[in-house]
Formats: sequence, C-alpha cells, structure tokens
Amino acid sequence: MNAAQSVPAQQKVPSNLRILPEPSSDPGLLDYLSASRLKCWQTCRRQFFFRYVERIATPTAPALFIGQQVHECLKSLNWARWKSEPFDADQLRAEFDESWERGLESESVPWKKEGDEANAKAQAWAMLETYFAESPVPYSETPEGVEVEVDCYLDRFGIRLVGIIDLVRLGGKIVDYKTAARAPSSGSGPEQHATQLAAYGTLYRSATGQRESGFELHYLIKTKVPKILVSTLDPMSDRLESELFRLIEDYLEGIAAEAWIPSPGQHCSWCDYASECRTLSGL
Ligand code: SF4
Repeated sequence: MNAAQSVPAQQKVPSNLRILPEPSSDPGLLDYLSASRLKCWQTCRRQFFFRYVERIATPTAPALFIGQQVHECLKSLNWARWKSEPFDADQLRAEFDESWERGLESESVPWKKEGDEANAKAQAWAMLETYFAESPVPYSETPEGVEVEVDCYLDRFGIRLVGIIDLVRLGGKIVDYKTAARAPSSGSGPEQHATQLAAYGTLYRSATGQRESGFELHYLIKTKVPKILVSTLDPMSDRLESELFRLIEDYLEGIAAEAWIPSPGQHCSWCDYASECRTLSGL
C-alpha cells in the first residue's frame, strides 16, 4: 500500500473548498415541503440556507408582526362564523388585544421609536375594522374550512407537502389573506403567489378528491385610510401544477447537491441575512 492509498479520501478534500460552513445539525429539510420553503428556495438559495439549514434567528419585522396579528384576528372571525356565533366586534377586539400582548411577549420586534408599537396596533385594528365592514364574504356564509391544516404525501417525490389554508369558502374557493403597505400594481398579484396557490390547490385536491373552484387573495392595505382589495383567480391550471412539480424536483436535487447559490437582486434590500451574505461573499 502506498502513502496516497493509506489516506481516507475525505481527508484529502481541503476544507476551505466548502464555501459555506457545515450545517449545524440535521435541519430536517427532507421531512416535508411547504409553500414557504419552496418560495424561499425560489427567491434565493443562500437565503434558504441561512433560514432553514443554519436556522439563524432574526427579529420579527414590524410589518410581519402586524400581518401575524391581523391573521390571528381573522382566524377568530372565521371560527365564530364557522360556529354560527353572532358577529361581536367587542369580543374580536378583546381577542386582538390579548393576542397582541402574547405576540409581544414571544417575539422580538425592533420598533424604531417610541410610539411605533401603539401606531402599529392602531393601524392593524383599523385594517381589521375596514375588513369587517367591506369583506366580500358575507358574515352569514358558513365556511367549508377555517385554518385548514392539510398534509399530503407526494408519491412521485417521496415527500410530504404540508400547509395551512386560511379559509375555504363554500363551494371550494380557497382564500388567503395578505397585508400590504400598498395595493399590488395591476396584474402583479397572482404570479407573486403562484407557488403558494399551486401548493394549496394540490393539498386541497388531495384532501377532498375535488378541484378547488378558484382562489381569492384578500389584501388588507395599510394606507392611511385602509383599503380592501380582492384578487380572484381561476383554479390551478395543469401548467401551474407542472411548474410546482418542476420546482419540487429542483428543490430536492438542489438540497442533495447543497446548491446554496446566492441570487442577488432587489430582494436583497429586505433580506434578513444581508450582512451574513456580504461576509460570505467577501463584499
Ligand atoms: S442578500 Fe440577497 S443574495 Fe444574499 S442571501 Fe439575501 S437575498 Fe440572497
């Protein structure tokens, strides 16, 4: 046996050839798929690495915190509707206050200055009040499902797809709530959310054996006077379904290859890991 044969192959690979550090522990990337994992993968694989492999904790941005609280309150509204309880704004306000306080205790939100938190809370409630008044879903309409946790096994990929659908309206219409600083520019809504909608369509079909009748994106817009916009979309097309499956293939292959390639672009401006990314790239 010569000297080269006596050295195990893995010891001959210089460790500095690995551009990113070793994952800290098994992150369970192949346990399941979700719309948010796939969307993050599509946006930037290096961001995906920081979020789901390294699991670097980041503060909850104020806009995200507002969105979470609005979602919580809309969940309460839909549960009350599901149970055929009368609409009770005071009860919803009390639950909103409680949820807001619980959220503040469990999340680290970097408010910039004094008064920001109170303003954010007032803004969130104003959006909700506008929604209560202008919702396209009549309060008397009993939902088909509220906060529906759906889980299906994708045989062709050997992995589970999971998701939580905000609301399924009578007749199989899938509703997702969005809070936004401004109204989406005309025509820019659907493609931004294509992966999420395709994932929900796949989950719904697997759970019910039926096609969804379509999708509705309910936007609660944080303008001075809040606005409600609804974008109505057709059921998932065969093409959209194929795009989702192609993305899942790419995701699984990319994870196996540890292809954590950065995708620089405008989205770097609001990336939670911009500083880590700059360090890695030596910028
Ligand atoms: S800063 Fe840009 S390139 Fe870097 S991880 Fe974030 S989104 Fe990706």
